[in-house]
Amino acid sequence: MVTDDLAAAGALYPADRLEAVRAAVRAAGLDAVLLTPGPDLRYVVGYDAKQLERLTCLAIPADGAPALYVPRLELAAAKASPAGALDLEIIAWEETDDPFRMVVGGLGLTGGEPAVGLSDRMWALSVLRFRDELPGIRLALAGSALRPLRIRKSAAEVAALREAGAAIDRVHARVPGWLRRGQTERAVGALIAEAILAEGHATVDFVIVGSGPNAASPHHEVSDRVLQDGDAVVVDIGGTMPSGYCSDSTRTYAIGAPPDEFTAYYSVLFDAQEAACAAVRPGVTAESVDAAAREPITMAGYGEAFIHRTGHGIGLEVHEDPYIVKGNREPLEPGMAFSVEPGIYPGPHGARIEDIVVCTADGFERLNNTPRDLVVVR
Ligand code: ZN
Ligand code: ZN
Ligand code: ZN
Repeated sequence: MVTDDLAAAGALYPADRLEAVRAAVRAAGLDAVLLTPGPDLRYVVGYDAKQLERLTCLAIPADGAPALYVPRLELAAAKASPAGALDLEIIAWEETDDPFRMVVGGLGLTGGEPAVGLSDRMWALSVLRFRDELPGIRLALAGSALRPLRIRKSAAEVAALREAGAAIDRVHARVPGWLRRGQTERAVGALIAEAILAEGHATVDFVIVGSGPNAASPHHEVSDRVLQDGDAVVVDIGGTMPSGYCSDSTRTYAIGAPPDEFTAYYSVLFDAQEAACAAVRPGVTAESVDAAAREPITMAGYGEAFIHRTGHGIGLEVHEDPYIVKGNREPLEPGMAFSVEPGIYPGPHGARIEDIVVCTADGFERLNNTPRDLVVVR
């Protein structure tokens, strides 16, 4: 059913995307972008190449035909990817070629004051080689061109994120059964990691099982701490689906009766998360969603214990634009997808609730739908 949803939404990598990127390159004032393996390359042509010392690079001039340069031994893999079905020249370089010179030569940059964008996650190994091949040319981040495209998800991308959300929800649905007194965080984390793959992800990206005092450390991963009666346990988990799109969801569980103070601020947190989601609609600023989460928490006296931004964009990367943080006055637009994840960490316990939310034409859609009420494991 979910796969039907994806098919109905159209291609994840539409044939006209390369043309849209070329227009974005021009709009960003660049003469070309050079994309090495990573989320930008995957976004543009669907090729999930590994970043290695041998250069793989998609060169997209503002005017002129794009070309994908690959090591000869990876030509078959490149052709088998969605890139192989596009109107795109794929050029294999031999072990004795200088691929950096080939890529730059192919751009045919002439005159003026050319500017070239390099993918944001390109290794310094490649950046410095390109810099040597491009003397006198202004180097910029390719993200300046790609950001406006990647930040607004297509219907197919939203469907892929929805599929990822459903997969991580199935894992969360199983978590209470693994939270047993006497188990270590590490042992629970191993079961969760197995389930992330079993429920359809291609990779496990992170598993946070923060119990007791560790729940007050938002980026704690796992430890050998043994789960005990009265613990609150923050479980924040995510992975990448075969589509390339990521999941990320947090639920906080309690083992037996948690401290009274915890129960009291958990209900504040629940309200804050609801309020922040309800604030999402086109035209409101990213920072106003952060403010909507922060207000009830501050009113209840826990403002100092909410020590991070409310959320981050998600797509082919777990953390990407837009960031839901004070100071980000960017208005939300339909198709923007991001986490809404307020937390309260007063110690010696803490809590966070996190859903991925998509801004729709007139409001929002949650992509995580397991219960947000405190789940108490008996
Ligand atoms: Zn985080
Ligand atoms: Zn998370
Ligand atoms: Zn997150």
